[in-house]
Amino acid sequence: MQKFKSYTLNKLEKIPQLSGLSEEQMEEIKIVSSIYPFKTNNYVLEKLIDWNNIPDDPIFRLNFPHKEMLQTEDFEQLKEVRANGTEQEIKQVIYDIRMKLNPHPAGQTDLNGAYLGEEKLEGIQHKYNDILLFFPSQSQTCHAYCTFCFRWPQFINDLDFKIQSKEIDPLLEYLERNPQISEVLFTGGDPMIMNSRVLDSYIEPLLKVDSITTIRIGTKALSYWPYKFTTDDDAEGMLNVLQKITDAGKHLGFMAHFNHPVELEPPVVKEAIDNLRKVGATIRTQSPLLRFINNSAETWTTMWERQVQLNCIPYYMFLPRDTGAQHYFAETLESAYELYTEAIRNCTGLASTAKGPVMSMTHGKVEILGVNDNVYTLRYVKHRDNSKTFKVFTAEPTTPKPMWIDDLVEVKSEITNY
Ligand code: SF4
Repeated sequence: MQKFKSYTLNKLEKIPQLSGLSEEQMEEIKIVSSIYPFKTNNYVLEKLIDWNNIPDDPIFRLNFPHKEMLQTEDFEQLKEVRANGTEQEIKQVIYDIRMKLNPHPAGQTDLNGAYLGEEKLEGIQHKYNDILLFFPSQSQTCHAYCTFCFRWPQFINDLDFKIQSKEIDPLLEYLERNPQISEVLFTGGDPMIMNSRVLDSYIEPLLKVDSITTIRIGTKALSYWPYKFTTDDDAEGMLNVLQKITDAGKHLGFMAHFNHPVELEPPVVKEAIDNLRKVGATIRTQSPLLRFINNSAETWTTMWERQVQLNCIPYYMFLPRDTGAQHYFAETLESAYELYTEAIRNCTGLASTAKGPVMSMTHGKVEILGVNDNVYTLRYVKHRDNSKTFKVFTAEPTTPKPMWIDDLVEVKSEITNY
C-alpha cells in the first residue's frame, strides 16, 4: 500500500527530488508560491515527473510554480519586498498582486448564488437551470495543486473567497423547491479528497431525492492519487459509497481531469478506472489547453486515444480562464482552434468526442466553431438562459491576439440555422 505524503510550501526543502535545483530556482518557486498555492505529493514526485527533464517536464510545469507565472514587475516587486521588507509590507504586496489576478472570474460569487428566500446558501452555485454545484467544506483541497487552477483562491486562507458548505439540509431544501434540477455536481477542490464516511453523509440523503437522476463528481484523483480507488485503507469503503449511487438507479458521472498522456501511464490508473467502472461509474475527461504542458495536437490525440482504450470518454478541451496565470498558459483563440481541429482530425471516431475549444465564462460555456478572415463563429454549449443554449453567433476580435471571449465583440447574434 502506498502511503500518501504531501508537501506544501513550508516543506519545499524536504522534497528530495528538488536537491538538484539551484538556489535561484528554489527561490523562484518560493516567490511564486507565495502568490499561488503550492502542494505536491509522493505519487506525483515519484511516478509522474521525469526529473531528467526539469524544468520543461509537463507535469513539473503542471505542479510546480514558475517565475513567468507572475508578470515581471510583480515578480520583481515581490522578490525585493521579501528581501528587504517588513512582514506587514510583504503581506500587503502579496495581497495586492493576488487581487490583480481576478480571483473570482465569471461572476462566480455574485451571479451563481443559490437563495432560499433572502438567504444565500453557502457552498452552492446554481448557474444552469438543471444542474447544481455543491462544494463540500471537506473537499476544499486536492491531492496536489495545478499551477493553472482557476479555483486557486479557494486554497488560500487569507483570502475570504472560499465557497463551501458543511450542511446538506439547505441543499435538500433547495432541491425540493427546484425540481427542475436533475444533477448535483460535487466539486471543490477535489471531492475525492473526502473519506468514504464523509462522502456518504452527503450522498445518502441525496439518493432519496427523486428529481436527482445524476450525481457528478469532478476530480483529479485518478491523476494525482489513483490509490484512492485501489489500495488505500478507505478504497473499498469509497467504492461501496459510489456503488450506492448506481444501485439507487442514478447515473454516476466522473469528470476526470487529465492534462497530459503521462498521467495515464502508471498501471494503477487503469486499475482505478476499472474499479470505478465496476461500481457503474461513467468516466468523462476534461482539461484546459495549456502552453508548456499540452499545447500540441499530437499530445491531445495521444491523450484522447489512450483515454478511450481505458474506457473513458473525452469530453472537453477548455481554454484557461481569465484568472491567475492565464497570460502564461493561454494560446490565442485562433491557435487553440487550429490545434483542436488538428487533434480531432487525427483521432479515431470514438476518440473524437471532446467539445472544444470551450471557454467557461459569465453566461455559460462557449465553443469556437470556426475562424475565417478574422471572424469567429461561436456557439453556446450551455447558457444560463437556456433558450440561448446551442445558439450560434459570430464575433470579431478587439485585439490583434485574442485569448479570451472578452477580446471578441459580437457582430451577429443567434444564427439559428447554422
Ligand atoms: S485538481 Fe482541480 S481543483 Fe485541484 S488544483 Fe488541480 S485544477 Fe484545481
